[in-house]
Amino acid sequence: MAQLSDDCFAFGGPMMSVDEAVGLIATRVTSVVDVETVTLGRADGRILAHEILAPLPLPPFTNSAVDGYAVSSRDLPQKEEQAIPVTGRVQAGSSASGPLKPGQATRIFTGAPMPEGADTVFMQEDVRVEGDKVVLPAGLKPGANVRPAGEDIPSGVAALHAGQRLRPQDVALAAAFGLTRLEVVRRIRVAVFSTGNELASPGEARAAAQLFDSNRFMLMAMLSRLGCEVSDLGIIRDDRASLARALQEVAGSHDLILTTGGVSTGEEDHVKASVESVGRLVLWRMAIKPGRPVAMGIIGGTPFIGLPGNPVASFVTFVHVVRPTILALSGARPEPLLPMPVRAAFSYKKKISRREYVRVSLRKGADGVLEAEKFPREGAGLLSSLVDTDGLVELGEEVTLIEPGQTVGFLSYASLV
Ligand code: AMP
Ligand code: MG
Repeated sequence: MAQLSDDCFAFGGPMMSVDEAVGLIATRVTSVVDVETVTLGRADGRILAHEILAPLPLPPFTNSAVDGYAVSSRDLPQKEEQAIPVTGRVQAGSSASGPLKPGQATRIFTGAPMPEGADTVFMQEDVRVEGDKVVLPAGLKPGANVRPAGEDIPSGVAALHAGQRLRPQDVALAAAFGLTRLEVVRRIRVAVFSTGNELASPGEARAAAQLFDSNRFMLMAMLSRLGCEVSDLGIIRDDRASLARALQEVAGSHDLILTTGGVSTGEEDHVKASVESVGRLVLWRMAIKPGRPVAMGIIGGTPFIGLPGNPVASFVTFVHVVRPTILALSGARPEPLLPMPVRAAFSYKKKISRREYVRVSLRKGADGVLEAEKFPREGAGLLSSLVDTDGLVELGEEVTLIEPGQTVGFLSYASLV
């Protein structure tokens, strides 16, 4: 398990900016070093443990980019078309029977290796076949329609990088190198539980004053998308002793403990006190809306994060605190969130010095430009505001007013996990 020192999340200021929080996590969280081997079919989404140098050039041999006729550039007609005999044929997967002689052409197909002596290919659409000759037009450039060996990736270059979260195209590259297995960082083990007397698990009886626990399922799904191995620990009641016991029990066997609810400073918010009874805890007052305090702590060397209970606050703080923590624990390269410019179709007032996220849907404006339409209501408890929208507009600390037509930064939900 990742072992952290007791005071690693201590922070001096009364209010922490989102960037400070992300920076602090990146420098204080030590990564898991355990590596495992996976087959390519299981590599998507995993964090690559070591750099991979191209073991062969791509393409591995010089080949034709089109179906057509291969010739030597010395035989390219200069001013007018010219007929030359076709003396060979080479298709993908086989090689020419011998070198191409000057003044001759070889019928060739896409992906077939260039015969020795040929360096240029005429597309079949650009020529005329007359008996056993092909009539070549003038004006083709030497080297046209040929893919030289290594033009994609030369042999020996660093092609995939340590800490990279593998995407389908990265897995394809490993396959193109002929690799069958990759060394990846083992999955980060996360223990998740919800806290609150008002919560019932779906499938359980719900008392009149209870609601079904939704955050736990949202957080577990987000963690799975980040490649974590999740332990679902259910709901813990608002009781200091049972919370403390549950926390202590899972600390040794997990890399991160994540809870939702109970981190405010009300007298029924017991997470703070129970973490303190078995470990160390600091409350981060982040300058973010929706948000509220996020609890950061260490229990027996294992990091602890307590997210707020309101679903939207839980979602937004997950993105800025849990996501970078998971990436740091996996030794992954930081993946900064890069908002895309869209046009605001709403007006919005905000406080200076605080980062705010507005839930929006995207639509195409009359002029074709993407517009962000704000969800009509703002409560941090509205699950529908996450369900019926496409993403978040990020409003920086310096912004105080947004008016319709202004350009704002949009983060799609898909880009957040
Ligand atoms: P808390 O952070 O515990 O003060 O909770 C704030 C609000 O979020 C309250 O209305 C809770 O009922 C609600 N809440 C807390 N935990 C959950 C959860 N796991 N799922 C859905 N709502 C929750
Ligand atoms: Mg509560």
